[in-house]
Amino acid sequence: PKQQQGGEGKKKETKLGLTASKEGDFGDWYSQVVVESEMISYYDVSGCYILRPYSFAIWDEIKNWFDARIKELGVQNAYFPLFITEDVLMTEKEHVEGFAPEVAWVTKSGSSELDRPIAIRPTSETVMYPYYAQWIRSHRDLPLRLNQWTNVVRWEFKHPTPFIRSREFLWQEGHTVFATKEEADTEVYQILDLYRRVYEELLAVPVCKGMKSSKEKFAGALYTTSVEAFIPTSGRGVQGATSHCLGQNFSKMFGIEFETEEKTRQHAWQNSWGLTTRTIGVMVMTHGDDKGVVIPPRVAQIQVVVIPIPNSKLRRQCSVVVIPIPNSKLGEEAVKAMLDRADAIAADLKAAGVRVTVDRRDNYTPGWKYNFWELRGVPLRLELGPRDMDSGVAMLARRDNGGKQSCAWGELAAAVPKLLEQQQAEMYAKARAEFDSCIERVTTWDDFMAALERKHMALAPWCDTEESEEEVKRRPPCLAIPLATYLPLLFMCDTEESEEEVKRRSATKDAMGAKTLCIPLEQPDLPEGTPCFVTGAPAKCWALWGRSY
Ligand code: AMP
Repeated sequence: PKQQQGGEGKKKETKLGLTASKEGDFGDWYSQVVVESEMISYYDVSGCYILRPYSFAIWDEIKNWFDARIKELGVQNAYFPLFITEDVLMTEKEHVEGFAPEVAWVTKSGSSELDRPIAIRPTSETVMYPYYAQWIRSHRDLPLRLNQWTNVVRWEFKHPTPFIRSREFLWQEGHTVFATKEEADTEVYQILDLYRRVYEELLAVPVCKGMKSSKEKFAGALYTTSVEAFIPTSGRGVQGATSHCLGQNFSKMFGIEFETEEKTRQHAWQNSWGLTTRTIGVMVMTHGDDKGVVIPPRVAQIQVVVIPIPNSKLRRQCSVVVIPIPNSKLGEEAVKAMLDRADAIAADLKAAGVRVTVDRRDNYTPGWKYNFWELRGVPLRLELGPRDMDSGVAMLARRDNGGKQSCAWGELAAAVPKLLEQQQAEMYAKARAEFDSCIERVTTWDDFMAALERKHMALAPWCDTEESEEEVKRRPPCLAIPLATYLPLLFMCDTEESEEEVKRRSATKDAMGAKTLCIPLEQPDLPEGTPCFVTGAPAKCWALWGRSY
């Protein structure tokens, strides 16, 4: 096996490890790593995947954390049906237009055609809101804040990618109703910050919080905020999660009205917000390497694997020296003592709150086990060899950076939780530094294209019109037109197509269109009169652009 290491004998026990490299062939690497690590199994409906226990455990961690936080905010969980009648789905025009191409329909029961086809929810605004209209009568019924953990179906036509873009995915969707816009606005940003924390604090993935352009916002929303992640290896941004203010669009369509304290009737203000299993894919893409996935300790199902080395030709590799361990074949009693010690260490760690397992399998060499657990990205490996048994220590090997350190048995229960937290922090810091280094501040079209060429994001002064975003899509990079020539053209077409245009233009080169990822909430200074990098018109903001998933 390619990844076999540590074993002198290079035994061919089982095929284990990846054949594609992350830098060399990112797409193949990703497909291999999610399958080989036993996170995903492919399924015979395209775009659908089986989430195996090893990835579902990560989703459980995310779910438990987020669920507790939203409950603190006063949100309650509920469950609404999977199906939507055609009439109800059509209620909010802009919304349905946004989703129509991706809606899956049930048209038959057994062999008989249904009178009216029934849609499968792509999201549940239209499922829930007719009932919100019935339940909400007075200001005393507000706020109404519900969430559901569920699956949705979007029959995506873009290339499916495990976790990142699937046709059925798991998510939470929050749907809340307030008496005032201020309350709704406040919640949008509270939720957005929880999404940031899921990525940054749980998954050690840096994100940028921002506002979506009008072209990229959710169909039917007043405005959409998002957390945007970035995969440096592929040079693509990925929308991490979205928190929408729906304004009064849906409350007007569905008749969600309440009587105010002053006895007047008013339409309610609404939000919806969602975070999906995409999170796991972004985590794998961010931290994984040629040995497999690398799971941040806080979400790892197994944080420490204890590997006893009772019978070994193993050479322990340190960063500078290679220490050969004598080819020992321990006697039965010594082996038992080692396994007992491994169990005792595991028990100590468990008592200290660490999720730990002992790999007692006797049909694999330690080297094979190293590969096995590295492929699965277990944050810490604890090795227990014959010498360690003599000196009362164990060797701790970090998955994220390969660092090793020896630790006395009695100190493990205190040292390991600290080391896991340190790993978590260092994984985030490393990813954050890389994320930041991938943002180029540009002011001209040429520099914008150069940044994309370098597989970076571009932070550029923008006039914030849909037409210019359209324009970016349309403009082939080889035809980068000098700003002076370009300006009059754009004054004539002052339309919403600008964002589309940006995508189309860059798409002509390599089929990976650039678009606005977001307008970051944290804005650099924008001197008055700074021209938009696309149209030359006065820029309104700095927008983050990039190719994306
Ligand atoms: P939306 O309801 O469209 O705002 O979607 C909420 C979030 O779901 C987005 O911000 C994405 O992170 C994620 N998402 C959208 N489409 C998919 C998909 N096909 N598979 C997995 N996650 C998705």
